[in-house]
Amino acid sequence: MIYVDNSNKFKILAAVYSFYDQFLKGFSMVCKPGCHTCCTVNIVATSLEAGYLLRSSFFDDLDLKKLLFSATARPIYRPGMSTNQIADICLRQEEIPPDRVEHGEGACPFLDQKGLCNVYEHRPFACRAMSSTEVCQYGGEAEMEPFLVTVNLAIYQIIEHLDKDRTSGNLLDVLSELVNTQSISPGPGNRLISNMALPGFLVTPDEQGRFRAFLRRLADFQVGGDTTLGAFLPQSGFR
Ligand code: SF4
Repeated sequence: MIYVDNSNKFKILAAVYSFYDQFLKGFSMVCKPGCHTCCTVNIVATSLEAGYLLRSSFFDDLDLKKLLFSATARPIYRPGMSTNQIADICLRQEEIPPDRVEHGEGACPFLDQKGLCNVYEHRPFACRAMSSTEVCQYGGEAEMEPFLVTVNLAIYQIIEHLDKDRTSGNLLDVLSELVNTQSISPGPGNRLISNMALPGFLVTPDEQGRFRAFLRRLADFQVGGDTTLGAFLPQSGFR
């Protein structure tokens, strides 16, 4: 089920996900199948990721329009700015305008009764980026190594860059727009925000060396044939 012709970009996105899976092997974490504290209605995604998610066979026999109609009628987190817009403001050392902080209650509609994700292979990066070195299931908070937080932010930015002419928003809103209107533009009624090209990365001085090594590894990752991820990313700052 493809609503937008993004086949080539889906391949690049899948390579970014695959790279991240490999990269994560260098970090210890306690997350395991059935943990689902982070599976809420407040997940944010780009339109590219939502289109990729719709490739999941889980949607083949599902009345997705109906599911999304009720899921988006309730309060859910709706970001006011994209990750690259925020990064751009930080890099210019300006003040970030306050975000709408409303978060919705309840589990992600793609979670099954056993606490497993029905769309796991196609889940967006926001789901992949959530991990913890401490069990957070019983009211605790997720703990993450600071460098992994930096890497996660960079990958959010890179995925937005790959989709820079389109939109982001709450995953359920973006899916709803794709399914109902096949629209990828922000509009007065659709609650989506415009994506932006990568303005640069937010890295602390003590992380610079490790971050450069991470970027080289990312840029050298194979997408297919002789092509690597570096071919799809801005050259400045990538070598
Ligand atoms: S898409 Fe899957 S991993 Fe992501 S929040 Fe929903 S159930 Fe959890």
